[in-house]
Amino acid sequence: MDTKINIAIDGHSSCGKGTLAKNIAKELGYLFIDSGAMYRAVTLYLLNEGISLEELNDDPAILGNIKIDFVLNPEKKFFETYLNQVNVEHEIRNMRVSKYVSPVSTLKVVRDFLVKKQQEIGQNKGVVMDGRDIGSVVFPDAELKLFITASLKERTLRRFSDLKNVSMEEIERNLDQRDYDDSNREENPLVQSKDAILIDNTNLSKKEQLELILGYCNKVILG
Ligand code: C5P
Repeated sequence: MDTKINIAIDGHSSCGKGTLAKNIAKELGYLFIDSGAMYRAVTLYLLNEGISLEELNDDPAILGNIKIDFVLNPEKKFFETYLNQVNVEHEIRNMRVSKYVSPVSTLKVVRDFLVKKQQEIGQNKGVVMDGRDIGSVVFPDAELKLFITASLKERTLRRFSDLKNVSMEEIERNLDQRDYDDSNREENPLVQSKDAILIDNTNLSKKEQLELILGYCNKVILG
């Protein structure tokens, strides 16, 4: 019998956990959810509407105006993020959002709102979700938990090759700051769960990493 599990992938910014999660989901026929995209979509909404963190804190009902969907792009064969019916997959990755997303994700009202949605998605199992608090808060009972990291230099280089018009220094500062903010916030900080497997992929190719992790997945799925 094919037993479906939930796979929680946490780790530092730009360590490739999104691509990894996507590939694992593809191999296993599971649903991939990028929880960071949800925090980014909320951030974009606040920026576009000119709503400050204080205003949101005072009136959390504002979050009721935010609808986030993942819609399959049939050509690219992967899901893209929609904010209130608009495709924002690219916009949420820009520096304007990247600089503001960690402060937004410190807010308890935002975390409660998104964690609830993420837990609903995981109810029926068969989900690979990546983020910062997936193993510790969203799916504490996930059958497989991974904590991914790589050196700051390597992560900066990888991000640099993805972004245009942004200097290496600016990227390194942003990654370093986000790691710090994410690890030191009060609400659901980035932590390696005790039962998570630590993988440093600084010197691993994507293929090597995928094979290693599919091995862990099959061990858990097949028992
Ligand atoms: O994964 P990504 O780098 O796109 O996430 C953007 C930001 O969203 C992170 O730096 C973090 O501040 C926040 N985040 C979070 N909890 C998650 C996923 C992302 O706080 N589960």
